[in-house]
Amino acid sequence: MKNRFRILFLASEVSPFAKTGGLADVTSSLPKALYDMGHDVRIIMPKYGIISERKYILREVIRLKKIPVRMGSKEHVTCAKSAFIPDSKVQVYFLDYPAYFSRPELYVDAKTGTDFPDNAERFMLLCRATLATTKLLHWQPQVIHCNDWQTAMIPWLLKHEYAQDPFFAGTATVLSVHNLSYQGSFDKSVLPRIGIGPEVNTSDLEIWDRINFLKSGLVTSDLITTVSPTYAEEIQTDMEQSAGLLDILRRRKNDIHGILNGVDYSVWNPEKDPFISPYDADNLSGKLENKKALTARAKLPFDEKTPIIGIVSRMVDQKGFDLIADVIDKLISLKVQLVVLGTGDERYHKFFKKAAKTNPNQIAAFLTFDEELAHLIEAGSDMFLMPSRFEPCGLNQMYSLRYGTVPIVRKTGGLADTIIDFVLEPEKGTGFVFTDYSSNAMLTAIHHAVTAFQDQKNWIKIQRRGMKVDFSWTQSAENYIKVYQKLESKKRK
Ligand code: ADP
Repeated sequence: MKNRFRILFLASEVSPFAKTGGLADVTSSLPKALYDMGHDVRIIMPKYGIISERKYILREVIRLKKIPVRMGSKEHVTCAKSAFIPDSKVQVYFLDYPAYFSRPELYVDAKTGTDFPDNAERFMLLCRATLATTKLLHWQPQVIHCNDWQTAMIPWLLKHEYAQDPFFAGTATVLSVHNLSYQGSFDKSVLPRIGIGPEVNTSDLEIWDRINFLKSGLVTSDLITTVSPTYAEEIQTDMEQSAGLLDILRRRKNDIHGILNGVDYSVWNPEKDPFISPYDADNLSGKLENKKALTARAKLPFDEKTPIIGIVSRMVDQKGFDLIADVIDKLISLKVQLVVLGTGDERYHKFFKKAAKTNPNQIAAFLTFDEELAHLIEAGSDMFLMPSRFEPCGLNQMYSLRYGTVPIVRKTGGLADTIIDFVLEPEKGTGFVFTDYSSNAMLTAIHHAVTAFQDQKNWIKIQRRGMKVDFSWTQSAENYIKVYQKLESKKRK
């Protein structure tokens, strides 16, 4: 392959247009980094109802006014509009099909709290329309870079329906797994509706007597990446971490690459963050202004000497909220304040509502999705808690480092790859790390952090050390290029 790649990025969420988690941050900042390195990179994503055409200046694309997509007995006529990621030249095509995508949520119906019943059709349409779009544009990508289950049918389509199509003869696929526990698993009865007839061999698609989009991608993509070296290792060695796909992953061991996510420091930088009072490592007193602002916003009493522990997270089991719930009283007795921002499982909403009501001077809970507040919590907290059961990469611990907010994390996945334990390595430590998935182990780590916080001179050293760590995208993007280079041998021609 030449040095300059034509890369098509396909994702179900891209920041700032639509975001439910870290995936959107990656699918925005990695293409930007690749573009800056000189590659021709374009993105396709759904045009969700929440994406404002005016705000992001979406324009019609003459060739993409009609994109017919056949799925089974139905022909869906879709179209695509285009815009750029703000402050960049990375072009994004928004696949417009209101019947599937003009809903306020991305995957889960807020009214029922369950996945949309037509998710298989929605994302299969996205995959089929993506291939149709490249043809209408006469733009032949050398790499189609898929992200998570919503896009994982692309490699399968290329290997089956498009196997003889000369247009894609020079195209290879990469599937990036951002979280193995979301697989896109559907009853087999969905097959005709996604355009797969009874004559088709569906063995690559099936597992546990169901259709599984992620499995199809893991089996048929040319290469696989995941978002940290430790997670890449864990999913090939640990049954629970592999979410049942251990054998499949082991079979592809030579094709799996763990590449740590980077941080977009144009978005997460306390010196230039528009949502906070700016500060830097030499002027940490500026951070105190944010602590004041955060306590005001959270309606908590301000006390410089009381450490604030911040949490910004999807409220799902993966993130370790059960550990916090188990020991909330003991946690409170450590004389800390807790500011939580997150949405997710109803039981955690209830738990934090109640805990905040019972401890109004120590706990504040914001049960919404709020980008601005996420920045203020990073800036105004002293510590940041991520007690995850598993964590493919995790971004907030890296944001926290840059904001001088000392992370307390469980040693798993990307958390293990990014935070050095101060207790074990006082000269190098950037945070507090515990290993066992238990509330006691978590409490001990928090206790160590609170004790270290009392010695402010030393604490500032930990903060400054973290602020200097550089997780910018350049290195990670170079590692992705190395993966793309490996695709040469996988292409059909
Ligand atoms: P995951 O992708 O598993 O959700 P990550 O740590 O990789 O976890 O990324 C989470 C991203 O989503 C971060 O940018 C975080 O700030 C953001 N985020 C999560 N929940 C919220 C929320 N309620 N409000 C604002 N941002 C949130």
